[in-house]
Amino acid sequence: MGRWKNQLAEVAIVASYLIKALALNNFRASISKIIRMDKIQILEDLANEIRVCPKCRLAETRINAVPGEGNVNARILFVGEAPGENEDKQGRPFIGQAGKLLNKLLEKAGIDREDVFITNTVKCRPPENRVPLQDEIAACNDWLMAQIAVIGPKIICSLGSPALKTLLGPELKISTARARVFRKSGILFIPLYHPAAALHRPPLMETLQNDILVLKDLINREIREDEITDIAPRLQHQEARQSSESTLAAAPKATDNDGKDENLSLF
Ligand code: URA
Repeated sequence: MGRWKNQLAEVAIVASYLIKALALNNFRASISKIIRMDKIQILEDLANEIRVCPKCRLAETRINAVPGEGNVNARILFVGEAPGENEDKQGRPFIGQAGKLLNKLLEKAGIDREDVFITNTVKCRPPENRVPLQDEIAACNDWLMAQIAVIGPKIICSLGSPALKTLLGPELKISTARARVFRKSGILFIPLYHPAAALHRPPLMETLQNDILVLKDLINREIREDEITDIAPRLQHQEARQSSESTLAAAPKATDNDGKDENLSLF
């Protein structure tokens, strides 16, 4: 009888642990659901503000601002250069030729576009698809920083040279930085060629595809310290930025020019 009672007591203890674990799991699921809902709401609020943003001259010529779209819990955040004609018409990022190629390359690498978030350094189309000017990039920077903070991706992938220089610094060249892991302000970055570059220069197609495979590998595993190149935040740049509005207005374009654009790093 005593043994039977002991066994019953043990069963009761195990059952109570099970119930607690289940309740905790439900609690965790509810919390993550609430956090997810909040993220969706915050990103949508941000997008609504971006849609009416008056902060730079691109607001005067845009049809639609293009806030960006994708998974609010994305582990990969792609940052392109600027919306093009199709994106401007529809208010969605990467839906033209470059976007189609990006979709294809992601699919080939086994990365679902539904799992990533895609945005740009500037949210409005520059006239004639010119490269965004530095003061336009600076005016748009708060939107990008807010998106990064809300999504909290594991890796940010800059697409092309202007996005690379904007995020990591003007001294970096896409040809040598591509597919490497950088860390700046605690955030990991992997620069890639822009899909439009691969459309214009076919030899880059294979490089970009291989680099996306590298990205796929890195997103699915722990990245070792010896694989990461640290970049110091450019405080002197911020001081320069604050010191002269007129310098910003006259600043050069964000082109791949061996790091002559001193004012491009925004972290
Ligand atoms: N190129 C970009 O850099 N961004 C887009 O949204 C589309 C094309």
